[in-house]
Amino acid sequence: MKDTYDVIIVGGGITGASLLYTLTRYTDLKKILLIEKYDDLATLNSNSRNNAQTLHFGDIETNYSAEEASRIKHEAERILRYFRMQSPGTNRDVIKKCQKMVLGVGSEEIETLDNIYKTRLKKLFPSSMELERKEIAKLEPYVVKDRKKEEEIGALLSKTGYMIDFGKMTHMFASQAKAVGKERVSLLFNTRVMGMEKRGKRYRVYTHKNEYFSRFVVFATGSYSLYFAKSIGIEKNLSILSVGAGFYTSRKVLNGKVYRVQKGGIPFAAVHGDPDIADKNITRFGPTVTIPPMLEKRHLDTVIDYMKTFDFDIPTMVSLEKILFNKDIRRIIGNNMGYSVPGIGKYSFLKKEASKIVPSLKFENLRLNGDIGGIRPQMIDENKHALVLGAGKIKHDGVIFNITPSPGASSCLANSLKDMQYITEYLGAEFNKGRYERELGKIHP
Ligand SMILES: Cc1cc2nc3c(=O)[nH]c(=O)nc-3n(C[C@H](O)[C@H](O)[C@H](O)COP(=O)(O)OP(=O)(O)OC[C@H]3O[C@@H](n4cnc5c(N)ncnc54)[C@H](O)[C@@H]3O)c2cc1C
Repeated sequence: MKDTYDVIIVGGGITGASLLYTLTRYTDLKKILLIEKYDDLATLNSNSRNNAQTLHFGDIETNYSAEEASRIKHEAERILRYFRMQSPGTNRDVIKKCQKMVLGVGSEEIETLDNIYKTRLKKLFPSSMELERKEIAKLEPYVVKDRKKEEEIGALLSKTGYMIDFGKMTHMFASQAKAVGKERVSLLFNTRVMGMEKRGKRYRVYTHKNEYFSRFVVFATGSYSLYFAKSIGIEKNLSILSVGAGFYTSRKVLNGKVYRVQKGGIPFAAVHGDPDIADKNITRFGPTVTIPPMLEKRHLDTVIDYMKTFDFDIPTMVSLEKILFNKDIRRIIGNNMGYSVPGIGKYSFLKKEASKIVPSLKFENLRLNGDIGGIRPQMIDENKHALVLGAGKIKHDGVIFNITPSPGASSCLANSLKDMQYITEYLGAEFNKGRYERELGKIHP
């Protein structure tokens, strides 16, 4: 079947591009096509404007269990190994070292941090350390400046943090994959996949212009992956709750990343302060939380598809009610609803969030930047009446659907490894495990 691809990847964000890279470098698959609906790679969540640019390592994520922290550390190490393989100069502006801190405000948070440090952090990250007020002031003067003396603070420090422009990394993956030659790898832009169907042993993938055939299909389409899974009649019990994110910016007031203590079981990261890899003169504060009825932020044409993916039926509504029964989730959504309202929203964001990190910030120092921030696709399981925390991977007879909330960019190589293993097994293709382990690290069962 001359015109049949081995694999079609739908979606040119970091998930799709890292899979393209992995398949071309470590397998003998001969014909791979990536289809992207916009005119460039990484225009949505993988774009550095739309995410928090953190290489998540498990050291500052206070909501992770020891097992989760150890897993994400292992996944992030693959990313560092990938960058170490590049020739000098290639990584410039793509990855930068930066210190990371989790700030505890008040005795309860400080005690939580102390407990995390003693029970798991010290063992997993021997170079991390606990900081008191004076030490915090040396590293992040604006975290202490103008803070009331009676307000207790403490922090955990990770000196070896990284920020990454995941958009540029997406381009690196794709151009390295393309370098193997046009006969093996093709990329199509401005081509919207509309659906697919099984025809014998192949899949027919149809776009708004044309049709393509493939032995295997991977949807790396962010929130849209569940939409496509449901369109072939599977995973009807799942829905997407789109968690939109916004960021405020100020002039540079932080040297590194300052996270806050985060409770477990909550799908929204607490507001943190970060440098911006693309603009060293600013600090970003966010993400804020909104629940927009759309699959892609700032793309109103995705509202109807959101409605189809959400299922406004009784089980979904009951699940939503149960999720909102959690008082922390209700409080976060309640507070955040107002943060995007002009004027009053900024005031309340400053008081409740940003000034907890940088007390000297003033109303006029902050600006809501409406052009940045993406959507975190959070799945609802209608059978369990609960949110599915973490990434979603649905495998179905020669098709994979990847749903990638945060920290999906940090996990992209770990994710593409899983996809590659399934694809090569399904198609009977070769996977060069030796080369993979030498370059990107050991594979654990
Ligand atoms: C506010 C925020 C902060 C975050 N912070 C971090 C962080 O600090 N660290 C971290 O590791 N992760 C972070 N994440 C998560 C991370 O950004 C995502 O997990 C990751 O970018 C997902 O990549 P993706 O390729 O799966 O999706 P996307 O980047 O969204 O790409 C999906 C692609 O599919 C394409 N597509 C969709 N439908 C079609 C179709 N029908 N036909 C063809 N193409 C289609 C889209 O155009 C798009 O290019 C954050 C996310 C958000 C929203």
